[in-house]
Amino acid sequence: MDRKSLDSKILELKNEMIKGVQGAIRIKSVEKNDKSGFPFGQGVHNSLLYCLKLSEELGFRVKNVDNMVGYAEYGEGSELIVVLGHLDVVPEGDGWTYPPYGGEIHDGKIYGRGAIDNKGPIIGALYALKAIKDLGISLKRRVRIIFGLNEETGSAGVKHYVNVGEDLPVAGFTPDAEYPIINGEKGIVNCKYVRKMKPQGDKYIKSINGGIAPNVVPDYVKAEISISENIKNEAVKLAEKRERIKVESTDFGIIVEAFGISAHGSTPEKGINAISVLFEYLSLLNFDGTSGELVDFINKYIGRDTRGKLMDIYMHDDISGDFILNMGVISGDENEVGIIFNMRYPVTKKYEDFMDKFKGIMESNNMEEKSMRHSNSLYIPADTDFIKKLRMVYEEKTGDIGEPICIGGGTYAKSMKNVVAFGPVFKGEPEVEHKPDEYIKINSLIKNAQIMAAAIYELAN
Ligand SMILES: [Zn+2]
Repeated sequence: MDRKSLDSKILELKNEMIKGVQGAIRIKSVEKNDKSGFPFGQGVHNSLLYCLKLSEELGFRVKNVDNMVGYAEYGEGSELIVVLGHLDVVPEGDGWTYPPYGGEIHDGKIYGRGAIDNKGPIIGALYALKAIKDLGISLKRRVRIIFGLNEETGSAGVKHYVNVGEDLPVAGFTPDAEYPIINGEKGIVNCKYVRKMKPQGDKYIKSINGGIAPNVVPDYVKAEISISENIKNEAVKLAEKRERIKVESTDFGIIVEAFGISAHGSTPEKGINAISVLFEYLSLLNFDGTSGELVDFINKYIGRDTRGKLMDIYMHDDISGDFILNMGVISGDENEVGIIFNMRYPVTKKYEDFMDKFKGIMESNNMEEKSMRHSNSLYIPADTDFIKKLRMVYEEKTGDIGEPICIGGGTYAKSMKNVVAFGPVFKGEPEVEHKPDEYIKINSLIKNAQIMAAAIYELAN
C-alpha cells in the first residue's frame, strides 16, 4: 500500500489529535528541581507518562528509559528512523490572554505553553505514525517517536538515550525549528574567562557590568573608575566629543556609561557592542597595572571585531559563512573581571580548528578559563538521500521550494546523529514559542502531521 491515503486518514484523526495536544498542554512541564526524585521534576515526568500512555492506547510499543526520555515504537526492521521532540517547556511568564496551561481553542488555534514548542508537533508526529499503522502501510524500517524531557535547559535526556545504548537512527528529524530543512548548524561555544585585578596606582577599574546573555550583543555597560582628583576633569573632557559614551564625575572618580545597539549573537555585526565602545574610551585613560592590561587585551584582540580576525581565528565556508565572535557579558570589580564569549564556527569546521589558538591568547593574557560549553557543528549535505526525501515531501505538500538551509543557531537535532530540524513553523508564520499566548494553528498541526506522515513513510522505505 502506498501513502496516498495518509492525508485523508490524518484528517479523520483530527479531533483525536487536538484532544491529545490539549491534554499535553494541560500538564505544566517546566523543569524543576523538586523533591519528586524524577530527574526533571514531577511536572515533566507527568508529561512523559501522559505521552507514553497515549502512545500505548494508540497501539505502539513504548519504553520509559529511566525517566530520562521515552519513546513510542512501531514496525520491524534492524534500521531505525526517529522523530525527536520534547515535552519540557519554558516557564509561562506574564502577559497571557488565555490560561497558559489551558489548551483552549480560539479562532482555530490551540493556546498554551508548549503548543508549538514542542508538544503540538511531537503529538502530531505520533498521530502521523498512527495513520500509517491504521492504514496498514508497510515500512522497511522501525520508527520511534522520541519524547525528550530536557531540551530547554540542555539535552541530558537524549544524551542518556545514547549513553545507555538505545538504537540510533539511520535518519530522522526533529520538528522543533522551522521549515524547510535545516541541514547545517554552526558549532557553538560559550565560555567564561576571568582575570584577577589589583586596585593600584592613581587610576583603576573599580567595577564594570554590562550584557544580559552570551548570545546577545550588549547595548549597555557601566564602569566605575577610581581616579585621583587632579586628572578627573581631563577624563571627563576626553569623553566630550565621543559618540555613545557618557562620563560623569563622582566622589571616587568617574562613572562611564557606554551605549551600543543590541543584536542576536549569531549576527553581532548588526549591532554595536557597548563593551567595545567602553574599552575604546578607556584606552584614552592610559591605565597602568592590571586595568591597563585588560584594556589593552580587549582593544587588541576583540575591539569591534565580530569575526575573530584580530585573534587570527577567523574561518569561513561557503555553506554557512563566517566564524562569529560575540563578547556578550562583562562583570567584575577591583579584584576580578569576568567576560563571557559566544562563538559560532562554520558547519564544515571543527572546534579543534580554532580552540588551541583561542586558549593560547587567553592564557598569555592572564585570562583564566572558568567554564567552557561546546555544541558541535552539524552538517548533512543537501544531496544526501534522506535530505532529498525530506525536501521532496516538503515541496509536494506545500508547493514551496525546499532548499535546505544552514543556521548560526543550534536546534535539538544536534543531540542525535543523523537527525536534522524539519518544521514545524511554516514560512511566514510568526514566532510564538517562548512568548505569551503561544499557540499552534489547528490547520498547521494537521499540515505538519501530513508532512511528517509522508516523511516517515519515505525515510522508512
Ligand atoms: Zn523546542
